[in-house]
Amino acid sequence: MADDEDVEDAAEEPHEPRIRVTKGKPWRIDAGRRAKWSAEDFVREHAVEIRQVGDPVLHTSAKHPKLSKAELEALVARMFASMVAARGIGIAAPQIGVGLRIAIMDVDEAGIVAIDPVVDEVSEETEQTSEGCLSVRGFYGMLERPLGARVSAVDINAKRFAIAGDELGAQCMLHETGHLNGELYVDRLKSREDLHPVEPDDTEEVGA
Ligand code: ZN
Repeated sequence: MADDEDVEDAAEEPHEPRIRVTKGKPWRIDAGRRAKWSAEDFVREHAVEIRQVGDPVLHTSAKHPKLSKAELEALVARMFASMVAARGIGIAAPQIGVGLRIAIMDVDEAGIVAIDPVVDEVSEETEQTSEGCLSVRGFYGMLERPLGARVSAVDINAKRFAIAGDELGAQCMLHETGHLNGELYVDRLKSREDLHPVEPDDTEEVGA
């Protein structure tokens, strides 16, 4: 069954990016940086252990970052390398032990770096969906998420921008802003029964 799904996914038509910029110009991890920061040597050198549920840094509201551009870039590179090593589609600074309001949202390789992101709007329409988190290794949960979301944030030059997400894009944006408020998706589950172990051969589950 997993094999059939893989074939279907591979045959899927390319879709519109599920995270779109609606205002301003965010700092994005472009193709050049992505190549450099995904390289094996770079990842080995810069990826750090992802903090796991129960670690206080994940359950505390993160703070506004006051970093120089060079410090910000170095932190984002470490976040990105750690995300690549863990095969994630997004990551928030607290997940690498840094309690600052910075997240990368990388659904469809959006590569958006959001500083101080705020959820401006979510759609009334929701969907029941599966969700994984690099900080809750080995599990996924079933929960209800809005189908659409709008987030605004600032870039590395403190300029404001806004993004809109659909489906997995919206889910990632809400998941990452949740991290910065000290919230994990497992806190939103209606029941412990909605949490399931990931099967060893399950390659479909993605975390953020
Ligand atoms: Zn997460």
